[in-house]
Amino acid sequence: MENYDLIIIGGGAGAFAAAIKANELGAKTLMVNKGLPLGGTCVNVGCVPSKRLLWAGEVMHQAKHHNIPGIDIEIKNFDFQKVVEDELDLVERLRKEKYEKVLKHLEHVKFIDGKATFVSPNEIEVNPSTSSGETVQKLSAKKFLIAAGSTATVPQIESIREVGFLTHIEALKVKKQPKELIVIGAGAVGLEFAQMYARFGTKVTILHRGSSIFRGEEELITRLAEILTNEGIAIKTSVQVKSARKEGGKKVVSYIIDGKKEEVSGDEILLATGKTPNTQGLNLDKVGIEIDPSTHSASSGQAGTGQAIKVNPEFQTSQPHIFAVGDVTNAPLRLEPTAGRESTLAAENALKCTQNSIDYNSVPWTIFTDPQLAGVGLSEEQVIKQFGSCLCRTVSFEDVPKALIIKRTEGLIKIVIHEETKVILGVQILAPHAGDLIAQAMTLIKNKNTIDDVVNSLPMFPTLSESIKIAALSFTKDISKLSCCI
Ligand SMILES: Cc1cc2nc3c(=O)[nH]c(=O)nc-3n(C[C@H](O)[C@H](O)[C@H](O)COP(=O)(O)OP(=O)(O)OC[C@H]3O[C@@H](n4cnc5c(N)ncnc54)[C@H](O)[C@@H]3O)c2cc1C
Repeated sequence: MENYDLIIIGGGAGAFAAAIKANELGAKTLMVNKGLPLGGTCVNVGCVPSKRLLWAGEVMHQAKHHNIPGIDIEIKNFDFQKVVEDELDLVERLRKEKYEKVLKHLEHVKFIDGKATFVSPNEIEVNPSTSSGETVQKLSAKKFLIAAGSTATVPQIESIREVGFLTHIEALKVKKQPKELIVIGAGAVGLEFAQMYARFGTKVTILHRGSSIFRGEEELITRLAEILTNEGIAIKTSVQVKSARKEGGKKVVSYIIDGKKEEVSGDEILLATGKTPNTQGLNLDKVGIEIDPSTHSASSGQAGTGQAIKVNPEFQTSQPHIFAVGDVTNAPLRLEPTAGRESTLAAENALKCTQNSIDYNSVPWTIFTDPQLAGVGLSEEQVIKQFGSCLCRTVSFEDVPKALIIKRTEGLIKIVIHEETKVILGVQILAPHAGDLIAQAMTLIKNKNTIDDVVNSLPMFPTLSESIKIAALSFTKDISKLSCCI
């Protein structure tokens, strides 16, 4: 039986970061992937293709709604299929460049295209995909890293499987644009797909279990809901989806709202109700790896199914020689950068017995709608819970000169600080490119900066990043009475 220093289960963002680190350390490593192609969720069926389609929708929307008098742009043609083909070309290109080629250069890493299952704490069984049929291989290692990712959750809705549905995977490559789309779930994925399709001209209805979209009732989330509603997306919250059926060529979803039964029909149903960790089939109970029954999907704000692998801050499972990272775990954030970073650190912990961990509080998240909603650190509610009180300010982008210049004043920025020390504890931004702007806030939180540090900084004028300084100034000054660049 072949023996390795490290066996990595999975072939996505997490697996690749671990493979690169293990290769650097000269460890004899095996990567085993099956299911999604190399690169896993992010490049194939997640971040990359969804952001390309969102960008296509944004281009169309801005052409029509730039609000500059005297410019009238006519979109002569919109070919949905071509837009999707272009997105799929990008996926293929990035998968080749960033994963397949990268793997070839890792001289200490062997790859098997197969599904891994534990047969003992130091042994896996793999069914490699070969043209000559299935041969089971047994492989052993001193250390393991599980980076098996997650799969779209299918909630308990009567007849949903018979009626048929899309997940993010199919919704990124449909041949025919649905005229009407029912999106179940208003987490990051649900909102992004809802706006993407709405901007392509699809009539979209969102059905969401929570009382507001995403999570919580924060004013920025409420504002985003208003913006999406104004774009024509119907958002129904506090909804209990009951059943689905086919009727006259349409798919009909029945739900309870305000104690009453309602129905909505469409050409397709998109399930965006969270992700379920890929732990089934790994035989985890056989090797004594605990799962966390309370896990929920942080990235989507939706309840999950309690199948995530429980890890300690050093990414170790209940079996000390087996590590787990990314979407398959109960880590507080399930994102591409966290999967990658957890993995780099976990590989080092596994191979060098280090104790690296991540401060998740300084990791930003983003909903890539337009405007984007991004945040880092604590929310007002979390600060009050932790410290008993807090100081916070919310500033409109009406007060940000660049936003006036580009006619994008719909956004808000909120800063939460410690009442006594004035240390910045949390920042949330609803604005164009908020996902880029939040990088600055990430550094402020990481370095435990105060609002005075921000007030004494000199951001470029006119930029949207000035909004952070303007919000910091608003703690001590009436910003409506300030000139530009104060
Ligand atoms: C629509 C969508 C959009 C997203 N957009 C963003 C974004 O903009 N920014 C961001 O940061 N995050 C985004 N995410 C989240 C991000 O894609 C994931 O958090 C990240 O890709 C998880 O990486 P991973 O390595 O843990 O898992 P994955 O990338 O899913 O990789 C797991 C791999 O393991 C394989 N596997 C599973 N079981 C086995 C087994 N038993 N044996 C062998 N192989 C196995 C799987 O098939 C897969 O190839 C998005 C997610 C979705 C669904």
